[in-house]
Amino acid sequence: MEKPLIVQKFGGTSVGTIDRIAQVAEHIIQAKNDGNQVVVVVSAMSGETNRLLGLAQQIDAVPSARELDVLLSAGEQVSMALLAMTLNRNGYSAISLTGSQAGIVTDSLHNDATIKTIDTSKIDELLAQDQIVIVAGFQGVNEKGDITTLGRGGSDTSAVTLAGALNAKECQIFTDVDGIYSCDPRVVKGARKLPTIDFPSMTQMAKRGAKVLHLPCVEYAWKNDVPLRVLSTFDVNEGSLVKGEMCLSDVSGIAIARDLVSIEIQPEHEEQVIKQCQMIGIEVWNVIKKAEWTGIVIKQDASAKLALVFNDKIRNSEAVSLLTVVGLQAKELLHLSCKLLEEQGVTVNYYEQACQCIQLVVPPECVDKAANILHDSYITQSGSIDIQQKHALLG
Ligand code: ADP
Ligand code: ASP
Ligand code: MG
Repeated sequence: MEKPLIVQKFGGTSVGTIDRIAQVAEHIIQAKNDGNQVVVVVSAMSGETNRLLGLAQQIDAVPSARELDVLLSAGEQVSMALLAMTLNRNGYSAISLTGSQAGIVTDSLHNDATIKTIDTSKIDELLAQDQIVIVAGFQGVNEKGDITTLGRGGSDTSAVTLAGALNAKECQIFTDVDGIYSCDPRVVKGARKLPTIDFPSMTQMAKRGAKVLHLPCVEYAWKNDVPLRVLSTFDVNEGSLVKGEMCLSDVSGIAIARDLVSIEIQPEHEEQVIKQCQMIGIEVWNVIKKAEWTGIVIKQDASAKLALVFNDKIRNSEAVSLLTVVGLQAKELLHLSCKLLEEQGVTVNYYEQACQCIQLVVPPECVDKAANILHDSYITQSGSIDIQQKHALLG
């Protein structure tokens, strides 16, 4: 009988030093010794992708998207080779593959590509030889053979798509926190660890900035029924499982998005600017509609690209952050949220409702305080997520 297969992904902090790579190797060896076939996906060592990006930006504020992919994909190639060497030295046969060697084919949207297909024949062959296969995350190749990358945080998506293509029993995302929390635990100390989180809530959290999972990773796992677990590289526990088609919590969690900028334009230019953003691959996070002006909220690092096209139409720009409350009852909490924040001195620049969530645009210096205020009121002081935990216990 064929051995079960698991895909394990290790993020940047987990492979950040040679000592940490040794810890990562222990997890892989454990899984292998437990009788699994193991495919591993790695990110670049922590800070490396930003370092490479910084080098490119010393040359050009908006470097060629194709060349940027060639450059950024190098980060993952370093960590995959170091990990393979570590496993080999420990007596385990391991081989590293680039995205292209692993058969990962994407569309041609450089810097934000989508995986189209994975030809697993090479990986299958190596697994049949009892090798541990290590694949570079975040990268693939388009039909022309050019290297592409999947957007920041994209190694999660590489892992889950490989898990789907290989029919793995689980995709395990190892990171620097021990699971998915009701809010970023680095910001809200009392955030609750969620043993399970439903797909709709996780999708909203990922979409609105909770970077613990890359959005396409969650979407793929949901659509293709891939068991998806988040757990710590530095601790042994069950982590959190993303599971369930329905949101059962009044408030599932709060997501924070930083490094955003609101680009002020005249209201009559809104449609044209949004269309242009779509064409050049800039994600619009929010549209602030005021009587006199419209604010297009995008990532700060995309603003130079937008300015190339629209410099004459941009009146002003302002750094902002976005706070999103996710859950069944979130919509009912819009006015209360604004009131709670204003009472404690946090200016809410803009607010709106969306699918099972509310979004609040706040000044960047207030976003952590705002997240704590809302988390205290809606999660710490209420039993709302207990509904979800009860369901998890009942299976
Ligand atoms: P990796 O490098 O392993 O991919 P990331 O930095 O991309 O790790 O994601 C993990 C980080 O996500 C955590 O360190 C944490 O600060 C942040 N995070 C944001 N929201 C959440 C959340 N709801 N639950 C857990 N972690 C979160
Ligand atoms: N190295 C890439 C990044 O920093 C991809 C990843 O870590 O998932 O965004
Ligand atoms: Mg990540």
